Amino acid sequence: MASKTIEDVLFPGIDVRVEGVSDSSGILVVGAVSTARPGRCPNCRKEARRVHSTYQRSLDERPLGLCRVVVRLRVRRYFCDRGSCSRATFVEHVPGLSARYRRSSTGLVGWLRSIAIELGGRPAARLCRRLRLAAGRTRLLRLLTAPTVPDRAPRVLGVDEFAFRKGCTYGTVLVDVEAGRVVDVLPGRTSETFAAWLKEHPGAETVCRDRASSWPASPWP
Ligand SMILES: [Zn+2]
Repeated sequence: MASKTIEDVLFPGIDVRVEGVSDSSGILVVGAVSTARPGRCPNCRKEARRVHSTYQRSLDERPLGLCRVVVRLRVRRYFCDRGSCSRATFVEHVPGLSARYRRSSTGLVGWLRSIAIELGGRPAARLCRRLRLAAGRTRLLRLLTAPTVPDRAPRVLGVDEFAFRKGCTYGTVLVDVEAGRVVDVLPGRTSETFAAWLKEHPGAETVCRDRASSWPASPWP
């Protein structure tokens, strides 16, 4: 049987090399360095050639056993050499691990988003506390906001409602079931709002609702 490296276990398929693992007051600190190809400038998409500097980012990662895990990831800042580009430098991201403006790993954000979709605000925050995942209610709800809403609905569209606060404000989460990601978040939970959304975003072949709700069973517009 081929032996596995620590990278295979902790970061499968991700371009990093683990430089060390240490314990800091019960937190497992994994030192890692990016081995990804030079990144592309987020403005002009030109591939970088010159390294400006390196620095260390701290990313909360999914826990291992009873330990919280923090990845200290060394990433590179690159020059953008395209003269016409307004951006002088940019920081690389490691696909599958780090993303712009995020202090948590991509894997942890995926977990938190799934928990928020399933449970909504307060119950999600309670479960996260029990699982030792650092995420409050506000942060979980913010994760439900989709970055860009596609023009067309996904083929299989999941519809679920959640409460911002019990008995108070409701919202509706629309999910691309096949891709497993949030597509949009609608205010309220009336079928009119959803019908209007479907009219503006055609393409859904199947609509599934996970939990009992105020939606009529049929017909869908
Ligand atoms: Zn550029």
